Amino acid sequence: MGAEKVLVVISFCGSGVLGPLQFLKRKVVYFMAGFLCPYCSNMMSVSEDTHSRRYPSFSSAAGKDIYWNGEQYMNEASCLEMDFYQCPNCGEYTIRLSGIGDGVKDITKMNIRPRSLAKQYPDYIPQNIRNDYEEACAIVDLSPKASATLSRRCLQGIIRDFWGVNKKTLYEEIDAIKDKIPLDLWKSIDALRQLGNIGAHMEKDTNTIVDIEPNEASSLIRLIELLMKEWYINREERRQLFSNIISSNDQKQAQRTKTE
Ligand SMILES: [Zn+2]
Repeated sequence: MGAEKVLVVISFCGSGVLGPLQFLKRKVVYFMAGFLCPYCSNMMSVSEDTHSRRYPSFSSAAGKDIYWNGEQYMNEASCLEMDFYQCPNCGEYTIRLSGIGDGVKDITKMNIRPRSLAKQYPDYIPQNIRNDYEEACAIVDLSPKASATLSRRCLQGIIRDFWGVNKKTLYEEIDAIKDKIPLDLWKSIDALRQLGNIGAHMEKDTNTIVDIEPNEASSLIRLIELLMKEWYINREERRQLFSNIISSNDQKQAQRTKTE
């Protein structure tokens, strides 16, 4: 998800005397692939109408330059690169931030708005499940351990709510739904359970904090998203489709009895 920088062209255009501070102006042209709006999932094209970039820093006037940024910005130890996107479909702003000055390089691709790349799920998915999922996404880079713990709790919340299963451990709960879901889906949950530390500790307690790799924490989040889609969203879409078919049939039958 998100913007992908495909190609960056830098061209030097002149080295004239620009006052006591001599610097080269560089034109930076970004060719970016489409950007997926995290609010409405609309793929927008990236242009001056939908995207702007600012370089605020401790001593420079914030946000003056967009694509024309002078060397003085690049020499700033506190320089930030702020990307603003506005979705033409829903109008929401997405804001991302990176540090490019030497003093702030530790800031890597922070999501300012929305706070994380968590998908926005509809209200028919229980609030506690959405909260755990969103928090797991928000801290996945900062603390994979805490993220995985939240994902496991979220997984347990989903299984309990959706399947009405309530056992002592998540391991037993996953086991209890084995015959209720397609085998390939169950296998993906089971495979995840068996992954290194996650598997070992899932069998004990969902609140156990274990050492975990960032990619494992991300895999847990992807699994949660898969279950949201496979179970909650598909069930709701099926419900709506069936209800549309039944109600349009009812209307047709009513019209028929009127004309008979
Ligand atoms: Zn949007």
